[in-house]
Amino acid sequence: MLEIQKFDKIIAANWKLQGSFDFVKRYLDELNSNILEKQGVCSIVCPPSIYLHKLVNNLKSIFLGAQDCSNYNSGAYTGEVSANMLKELSCNFCIVGHSERRKIFKQSNKDICLKAKNLLDQSIHPIICIGETLEEKNKNLTKEVLFNQISKSIPNNGSKNSVILAYEPIWAIGTSLTPSLEEINDIHYFIKNEIQNFKNYKVIYGGSVKSNNATNIMELNNVDGVLVGGASLDPLEFRKIMNS
Ligand code: PEP
Repeated sequence: MLEIQKFDKIIAANWKLQGSFDFVKRYLDELNSNILEKQGVCSIVCPPSIYLHKLVNNLKSIFLGAQDCSNYNSGAYTGEVSANMLKELSCNFCIVGHSERRKIFKQSNKDICLKAKNLLDQSIHPIICIGETLEEKNKNLTKEVLFNQISKSIPNNGSKNSVILAYEPIWAIGTSLTPSLEEINDIHYFIKNEIQNFKNYKVIYGGSVKSNNATNIMELNNVDGVLVGGASLDPLEFRKIMNS
C-alpha cells in the first residue's frame, strides 16, 4: 500500500455519474499532454467504475480511484462492484460515504465502515467523506456530526497511513458556496486534533473547489488537499487545480 502520510497534498477528482468513452479519450489526451509532476502531490481520478479499465494504463502520474464499493465481497448482490474487483482493476483509492450515497442511497456509517474495511483488506485506500447539512451547521451541530461520522466510519483495520478523510459540507457541494477560509481551517483542525483515537489523519476539503479558490484553500495549514467534483470534469480546470 501507499503511505498516505508521506504526501504533502492529495488532489482527487470525482466525476460522479458523468462520462462516455469519447469523454474519457478527450480527458486523457488533455490531462496527459502537459502534466507537471509535483513532488509529494498525490493526484487521483475517480470515474464511474465502467471507465476504470480505460484509464488504468493511460493515466500519467495519476492514481485511479472508484466512487463506491459493495458492502459484500461476492454473492447474490445484483448490480454491486466489490473491493476485490476494484483491486483487479489496479485501483489504489475508493471514495466511500459521499453525501450523495449517504442521502440518496441511504448508506449509514455502519455501511461505510464495512466498505472501508473491505477496501483495506484489498490494500485500497478509502477516502471517507464526512460533512454536515446546512440545517446542522445552523444549529451548531457540525462538530457533533463529524465526531459521530468519524468514530463510526473508520474501521479497526484503518490508520492515518491508510485512510483519507474528506470534509465536504453538504451545503457546499455543487452550489458554488464555500465556508470561509477560516472556517475550513478551524474544522480541519478539529478533525485532525480533537477526536480521540483518530488524530492526524490526512483531511482534504471538498465542496465547490475550482481553480480560482483551490490555491487559497490548499494553502491553509490544516488542509491536506481537495476533493473536486464539477470542476474536475474539465481537464484543463482540473490540471490548473493540480498545479495550484
Ligand atoms: C463532490 O462531489 O465531492 C464535490 C465536492 O462536488 P463539487 O466540487 O461539484 O462541489
